[in-house]
Amino acid sequence: MIWFDCHNHLQFSRLGDPAPLLAAMHGAGVERCVVNATCEADWPAVAALARAYPESLLPAFGIHPNHAHQAGGPWQELLAGLLDEFPRAGVGECGLDRREGAPGMDLQVPLFLAQVRLARDRCRTLTIHCVKAWGLLTAALAEEPPPPRFVLHGFAGSVETARQLLPLGAYFSFSGEFLQARRAAVLDVFRQLPPERILLETDAPDRLPPPAWVSHPLPDSCNHPANLPAIGHGLADALSMQVADIADLTTRNARACFGDALVTPTLWKR
Ligand SMILES: [Zn+2]
Repeated sequence: MIWFDCHNHLQFSRLGDPAPLLAAMHGAGVERCVVNATCEADWPAVAALARAYPESLLPAFGIHPNHAHQAGGPWQELLAGLLDEFPRAGVGECGLDRREGAPGMDLQVPLFLAQVRLARDRCRTLTIHCVKAWGLLTAALAEEPPPPRFVLHGFAGSVETARQLLPLGAYFSFSGEFLQARRAAVLDVFRQLPPERILLETDAPDRLPPPAWVSHPLPDSCNHPANLPAIGHGLADALSMQVADIADLTTRNARACFGDALVTPTLWKR
């Protein structure tokens, strides 16, 4: 079985040396992952990973809404420069987050719209983080149309929201955290989504699945990117599907979503 982790943060120092993590991922059958930046400060680390492991990962560069207050200076030019250097890079993660303590919407919304515009202009896959801000998100995407393909990572929205986003090109990514009994409502939504738009992610080192679905434990409750097949197993059980079918489906979907037929090192050179 071949798997694809469509969202993680291999650049976070909490995970330590990426080499053994990638070796474990490949050992578990995860052929590729998308490594998402979260703020200008971690772009160099994501770029370094993309240069070092061009066949194992695709980078995405963006500013997470929780870092909206730190976005200043010529960040748009820097981001555009990274997209020039990495023709296969996505834009993300970016989005809207209304949890307590998050930066104000006066900062989040313009930052998000600018990243949507950049992804559309460059025709790059956009990765969106959205928490408790679905009305604002659909309004934002009506104002600034998204690129042809975009990912709602860790999608915990409603079926109604999904129906609004599907015709725009949305893919919906399932994380292991949703295998917790208290998140059963999310599984209900995934049962109703078109199979060809379902993706899988670890969001490592975050969103640790329940213990039954942790194949690669790490200290300090960190989520290992090689837990992806176990998470896929959990989703297969929940959707009454065969594990091999979930692997085939989500890997095919991820390749389509990220335009990732086959990554060859030469494509990454300027
Ligand atoms: Zn993330």
